[in-house]
Amino acid sequence: MNDGLARMDAVRIVLVGTTHPGNIGATARAMKNMGLSRLCLVAPKEFPSEVATARASGAAELLDGARRYPDLGEALAGCRLVVATTARERYIEWPFLPPREAADRLLAEAASGPVALVFGREKHGLSNAELEHCQYVSAIPTSPEYSSLNLAAAVQVFAYEMRRQALAGNVDAVASAAANDPRWATAEQLQGLFEHLEQTLREIDFLRPDRSGQVMRKLVRLFSRARLAEEEIHILRGILTAVRKRPPRGKVD
Ligand code: SAH
Repeated sequence: MNDGLARMDAVRIVLVGTTHPGNIGATARAMKNMGLSRLCLVAPKEFPSEVATARASGAAELLDGARRYPDLGEALAGCRLVVATTARERYIEWPFLPPREAADRLLAEAASGPVALVFGREKHGLSNAELEHCQYVSAIPTSPEYSSLNLAAAVQVFAYEMRRQALAGNVDAVASAAANDPRWATAEQLQGLFEHLEQTLREIDFLRPDRSGQVMRKLVRLFSRARLAEEEIHILRGILTAVRKRPPRGKVD
């Protein structure tokens, strides 16, 4: 098998909070058509389901192999590149990749470990907290009059882009451009840093309870934009540990 196609096994398609089991089945079919195999379901409303199996048609085995997770963080364990998908413009402030570039990057980085592409709920997409697990956001350009694709149709577009890239055989050109990259932090290393940062900022009274959510979101965005390497996470956490070790200063009245 060509190297690009083999790499598709390292791409996790993660569906978050899917309401309609038919969409899970249609996603499995879209994935199998394009040669993707790793379906991850975060808190699906109804699964397993006969409706899903019927819609999957010849791809029912992907449903049997689907993994279920209680939350997005667990579904992303080990992933160094996570791309969220959205129909909504409010995410535009997040680092953005058009679908083709997102597919190219995912496939290139799949050479060195698992990567994930995340899809939101039919009604509300992804929450801000879920988006914060992702380094990039990608949106399929649509008519501004109606930007929201059916969930499985959106999966199909991204899956096709990955197959196109895998078949084009230029995966290695992108991969070699990425060869000098540092070892990027995994999703759980990033979450660990964010928790450590929040605790520390509370401890030193930098975060006020009333505005802490907003400030933390901005900090998470900053670090997501920077794309941290594993080594940088260690340095930052070392700093936070040193800050927390310092005895509190005496109160000055
Ligand atoms: N009304 C919801 C739409 C959700 S559609 C919202 O405002 O977000 C369900 C999911 O399909 C989305 O969360 C996203 O993962 C995917 N999707 C739908 N349209 C898309 C588009 N134009 N580009 C990328 N993903 C899209």
